[in-house]
Amino acid sequence: MERKVRVRFAPSPTGALHLGGVRTALFNYLFARRHGGDFLLRIEDTDQTRYVPGAEEYIIESLKWCGLTVDEGVGAGGEYGPYRQSERKEIYRQYAIQLVESGNAYYSFDTAEELDALRKESESKGETFMYNAKSRGSLKNSLNLPKEEVQKLLDAGTHYVIRFKMPENEDLKLYDIIRGEVHFNSSLLDDKVLYKSDGMPTYHLANIVDDHLMKISHVIRGEEWLPSLPLHVLLYRAFGWENTMPEFAHLPLILKPVGNGKLSKRDGNKMGFPVFPMEFTDPITKEKWHGYKEDGYFPEAFINMLALLGWNPGTEQEIFTLEELCQQFSLDRVKKSGAKFDPEKTKWFNHKYLIAKSDAELAELVKPYLEADGLNFDKAKVEHICTLMKERYNFVADLYEDCKFFFIPPTEFNEKDSKKYWKEDTPALMNELLDILKSIDDYSFSNTEKIISAWITEKQLGFGKVMNPFRVAIIGAAKGPHMFDVIEIIGKEETIRRMEKALAAMQ
Ligand code: GLU
Repeated sequence: MERKVRVRFAPSPTGALHLGGVRTALFNYLFARRHGGDFLLRIEDTDQTRYVPGAEEYIIESLKWCGLTVDEGVGAGGEYGPYRQSERKEIYRQYAIQLVESGNAYYSFDTAEELDALRKESESKGETFMYNAKSRGSLKNSLNLPKEEVQKLLDAGTHYVIRFKMPENEDLKLYDIIRGEVHFNSSLLDDKVLYKSDGMPTYHLANIVDDHLMKISHVIRGEEWLPSLPLHVLLYRAFGWENTMPEFAHLPLILKPVGNGKLSKRDGNKMGFPVFPMEFTDPITKEKWHGYKEDGYFPEAFINMLALLGWNPGTEQEIFTLEELCQQFSLDRVKKSGAKFDPEKTKWFNHKYLIAKSDAELAELVKPYLEADGLNFDKAKVEHICTLMKERYNFVADLYEDCKFFFIPPTEFNEKDSKKYWKEDTPALMNELLDILKSIDDYSFSNTEKIISAWITEKQLGFGKVMNPFRVAIIGAAKGPHMFDVIEIIGKEETIRRMEKALAAMQ
């Protein structure tokens, strides 16, 4: 029987969700949708020392903003809960003990000081200390101590950890969907801690137990977890769960826009682009981070950009709705080499989504800006401005900022532009133009263009000589779309008012 696809996004709430984390969530989501499966959200909060308050809420909000609906898990419920690992503490203990009893794990009573001393000693010899098959025989653990002694220590409540007994010198041939066969030798791996006497499992144990109990079919996660793969597979074996073990896919790294290495949150601040989906203030350091949402990106554009970081459709298509991605996504087309992050391309995506919006939709997005400035929202007028101007912008905020002159008359005239275009003979010319403007009733582009052009031609004035100072008078600077468009939008009364004001100010 085909196994039901069940994938999980399993972040640790140690801070804001980096865009790499969102990409992991997205690929899991797309894979689930493509195969009619379930997308789970599990919060891996077993490391209490790294817990950041608010991080879990941040993760949930970010997924919502991106439109990645969680089917099951924290915030969504489900029959395999609880989905927050700190609420599953009791579950892990029995599994840790099970591994001890089957001879796959053992109690280790070595203190932090003792292990530190061993580490230092190795370092002084230019070696690295590893708790493994070579060293475990001479250390303080249940493999060496007499049974009664172990029991005594446990009864006395001595601090211990349970470690995995990593086999010695075993060649492991493992399979990753993206990378194919991957080889590891177990001697390079140490006896990882699985459980601590404070009752908390470590990531490795909790992760495997939960993936098993939650019937996860595919583990899709970042490449940084590839080195943990051998331990994870060995844990499945040790539990006797290899038959139902999930398949693994490790996603390529997201690389810095320039230079080498993994994209870090510092790169964002340095180069002026967000690395987080939403704004975030670190509750401990109070450091403030930009977010795609607040910086004016559309979630669809952000998601579209992320989808192409490591995956490609095999065609030239670049713009995808989430729905299209759900239909086309496949792990076969995820590459294994790192994907360079390009902040400019992200802006390009936003631009594409901005221009694809209908004028009515865009007008609605401009509305809050107008309201914040106490300006009247004239839907038809705003839509007209959007038609005319949207091609020029990546963000609604920039569109609004640049188009404010449609709503607010200039309070000053750009010095450089007026010097350049407002000559001695300009006032006379503008007064003449004003008379013409007063005589026109139909302010449609075609009508004003016809009348004013005829006048310019008749007087042999040259277009620039009239239109440039006219522009400075109406807009306050040499910018904006065609003047006949501008006056069509602002209308006769406003055009005349602005002309009179400019003439009074710049006689
Ligand atoms: N809690 C791990 C993380 O923060 C999850 C890794 C995994 O998906 O196995 O990335």
